[in-house]
Amino acid sequence: MFNYDKSALKGHVLELIRLAATYLPDDVVDALRIARDSEVEGSPAKNVFGMILSNIDMAKNDSTPICQDTGTNIYYIYLPEGTPTRPIMAIIKDATEEAVELSYLRPNAVDSLTGKNSGNNVGEGQPYFHFEEWDKDEIEIKLMLKGGGCENVSTQYKLPDTKLGAGRDMDGVYKVIVDAVDEAQGLGCAPGILGIGIGGDRMTSYGESKKQLFRKMTDTNPNEVLAAMEVRLKDDLNKLGVGPMGFGGNTTILGVKIGTLHRLPASFFVSISYMCWAYRRHALILSSKGEVVYD
Ligand code: SF4
Repeated sequence: MFNYDKSALKGHVLELIRLAATYLPDDVVDALRIARDSEVEGSPAKNVFGMILSNIDMAKNDSTPICQDTGTNIYYIYLPEGTPTRPIMAIIKDATEEAVELSYLRPNAVDSLTGKNSGNNVGEGQPYFHFEEWDKDEIEIKLMLKGGGCENVSTQYKLPDTKLGAGRDMDGVYKVIVDAVDEAQGLGCAPGILGIGIGGDRMTSYGESKKQLFRKMTDTNPNEVLAAMEVRLKDDLNKLGVGPMGFGGNTTILGVKIGTLHRLPASFFVSISYMCWAYRRHALILSSKGEVVYD
């Protein structure tokens, strides 16, 4: 059994939330800087990137949210075998309520029937939790804050798609992804990062697309076919000219991350989770000695 101090873990999760809401990961900031440097001097795109980067600096220095929409709180949690999940969910909900009181998070949980905001960012399905056991003697808690605007332009396709001439193969997958970004234009606060789930059913396909968004910007897909597709899509999507916030420019997409799941013979889903430039994700790792590392 993995033992940990529950009160201490609440403090660690609160710090994780603060980091996620106020401090964009270094790999994302680096990607935004590279994108800014690729734009023409004096162009709207260059100015937009300047504003985005200055906003990121101010949020980090003042410990204030990077964007007013602090998004859906998505947790992927990895546990040693046999570690109970309910106490961890309770700790995270407590930390979430405190994060709202401290203004790290906006109260974002609205009852879908009554329209009433819970006021503390906790409700049915909010935060969202996904647990997996692993062989390591440590707990890793990954948190992503996913804004509503970019979630609204996320989408799912069912292949074949006769309108797009997209069949049940990688060429068909390519066509629907290009269509999704073309349809989004600047909505969803471009430049975006695409998490793609190929296969599965409607639910697991979307889940895979979200899981892909926990990858680092700079990593390479271990599958050669998918790695090549990620590079090709990024290059081609940036030729669309949508640019940051739809102002035109060289950077519409900062990265593409693709995963696959087995599917039923009768189904072929492609799910696209569009993440905005406010690509907020961090993680904490808690060792069996109580030591904590943030990533
Ligand atoms: S899509 Fe992202 S950047 Fe745009 S308003 Fe929502 S959270 Fe903020």
